[in-house]
Amino acid sequence: MRPFNHINAASLSEAANALKKGGAVAIAGGGDLLGALKDNIFPAYPKTVVNLKSIPALSDITADGEGLKIGALATLADIARSPVVSENAKILAQAAGMASSPTLRETTTIGGNLCQLPRCWYFRKLNNRFDCARKGGTRCFALTGDNRYHSVFGGTTFETSPGVNRICIAVNQSDLAPVLTVLGAKFKTTERLIDAGDFFGVGVMTANVCRCGEILTEIQIPKSDFLKSGGYRRFAFRKSIDFPVINLAIAADEKGYFRICLGGVAPVPYRCTKAEDLLKGREITQELAEKAGIAAAEGAEPYEANAYKVQLIKTLVKRELLSL
Ligand SMILES: Cc1cc2nc3c(=O)[nH]c(=O)nc-3n(C[C@H](O)[C@H](O)[C@H](O)COP(=O)(O)OP(=O)(O)OC[C@H]3O[C@@H](n4cnc5c(N)ncnc54)[C@H](O)[C@@H]3O)c2cc1C
Ligand code: SF4
Repeated sequence: MRPFNHINAASLSEAANALKKGGAVAIAGGGDLLGALKDNIFPAYPKTVVNLKSIPALSDITADGEGLKIGALATLADIARSPVVSENAKILAQAAGMASSPTLRETTTIGGNLCQLPRCWYFRKLNNRFDCARKGGTRCFALTGDNRYHSVFGGTTFETSPGVNRICIAVNQSDLAPVLTVLGAKFKTTERLIDAGDFFGVGVMTANVCRCGEILTEIQIPKSDFLKSGGYRRFAFRKSIDFPVINLAIAADEKGYFRICLGGVAPVPYRCTKAEDLLKGREITQELAEKAGIAAAEGAEPYEANAYKVQLIKTLVKRELLSL
């Protein structure tokens, strides 16, 4: 770890102003950021770390007639064991309770989970060894290298500097992102309200559309029929302390409309609209669940090492539909 200035922000405006000065990064639970600092993966080492946990009243979990509100600093453990979350958005409590490890869940936050940087091993390699596109460099090493954990639905092209576009095929591996997408969540920041479906994105050293100094403050889950039925499922190689290779959230309403979202298969959470259309208003049978799994994987174009993910998509979708 290299030396940096540390600011315990007393308010959101103090934190935002400190972040806007540049060379600064926000920290919540530190579950992702501390590893990134220790491994020295930043193209330019941050000069200042701005602590958000010193800002009061950002970890409340409440529900009212409009829906559920979760402060960005609520920990994954708080969410997993909250009766309010279980009652209003059961699959969110389930997903939070499966992420990382029991110890990490006590300190890491929902805001940090949604803003975490990609786990691509070229990106994470010690001492910034691979100056890849996601760090502002010229190429994506995973395109021709070891891409066994990467996207099967193509990459995202993004601007690394004015007028220069590059591609990244790293996936979003947050346990919570697909769940919040199917629940139609809205993310409140210091500047605006963003639909979950529009929040995730690809940019240099970022995995969301927030601008410099913009801080995620609250996750809002509006009351809807899609909260009534749903399921969450993940596939990981280890049972604990392991990111999902693929995860899946499904929400359904009483009229037979489905929302299905996968994580770990694309640079941002991936809505399986073809499977959703196929299922509309129909009773789930073994045959239909199988067809929906195939539809969910339609359009996948795996790279050399990750074709196994296509079969995983089909199996996870089928199994979760049958267990609903
Ligand atoms: C060993 C290990 C296993 C893990 N396994 C899983 C897993 O299975 N599933 C999973 O989903 N995650 C997993 N994680 C990731 C971890 O759960 C998330 O990274 C964690 O939730 C991050 O939360 P945090 O509060 O610690 O964020 P931090 O590490 O403090 O921050 C993460 C990033 O988000 C930014 N940030 C934090 N809060 C905000 C905010 N309010 N507004 C704007 N930006 C913000 C920070 O600047 C930083 O870039 C794992 C991490 C480790 C180290
Ligand atoms: S997949 Fe993205 S993060 Fe990984 S090497 Fe390619 S550009 Fe970098």
